Amino acid sequence: MENDIELEFVTDYHCIVNTNNIRSGNIGAILLHNFACIIDTTTYLITAKKFREKIEKKFKLPIKFLIYTHYHGDHIFGASAFRDLAIISSKQTLRNLTSVETLKSIEEWKNNLIKEDSFAKGIEIVLPSICFLDKLLIKDEGLEIEINHCGGHTSGSTYVYFPKEKVIYTGDLIFEDIYPYAGDPTCNPDVWITQLEKIQNMDIEKIVPGHGPILEKRELNKHIIFFKSLRALVREAIRKNLPIDTMIPPDFFEFEADIWKPIAVEYWYNFYRRQK
Ligand SMILES: [Zn+2]
Repeated sequence: MENDIELEFVTDYHCIVNTNNIRSGNIGAILLHNFACIIDTTTYLITAKKFREKIEKKFKLPIKFLIYTHYHGDHIFGASAFRDLAIISSKQTLRNLTSVETLKSIEEWKNNLIKEDSFAKGIEIVLPSICFLDKLLIKDEGLEIEINHCGGHTSGSTYVYFPKEKVIYTGDLIFEDIYPYAGDPTCNPDVWITQLEKIQNMDIEKIVPGHGPILEKRELNKHIIFFKSLRALVREAIRKNLPIDTMIPPDFFEFEADIWKPIAVEYWYNFYRRQK
């Protein structure tokens, strides 16, 4: 894990992110006139704390809300750095954090990290305190943040849009420079692709992914093409009754040998086979 936490400006002022740790997820902030909101926490409490301290010191704004883009540990395990804030998520993310199947897997993930990773000290699962069904707006003197439930990567996945500066924080709907993790038990590939196409039609310029560096809007299309080619490949294999290990998944992302690649292929194959 990289220990250094810099504040990267997505735009001239309001939108900030740290993308140093590609495996442990991005942590973002949107600065309004009177307060700031944080988006996700990374895997680590130590990272979340440092990011918070830097935002508070540099901008002298109180932080009011923490927004979870979804329930995965690499986006929420640092949440105890923000325990005093109101924590916002979609209702479905709260369900993911409390239902037997999904909670068990992230509790195991957390406990293994605490055992194996010396940076994982103090990581915790903190439940959200404000939940919304479809959309939630945060307003402050003419500025507005839109939080939208969209599903796809997980059933509770959410993106955060700041129209004033045409910035979207997509959470794990987008992984840049790293193979996407596409094997969550609540992942829906069709919803994922539809939501990326909707985002492509939004008035945006910059995209902050869940992992990896900031993108320009024009770079979104390569992600849509990638997901569509993966979907076409698994559907074709199912139609021809080909076994999963005969498929050659599309090469696109930098880390081709990544462990997340076979996970994506296997989950999508089984997803579409169930629908047959
Ligand atoms: Zn995720």
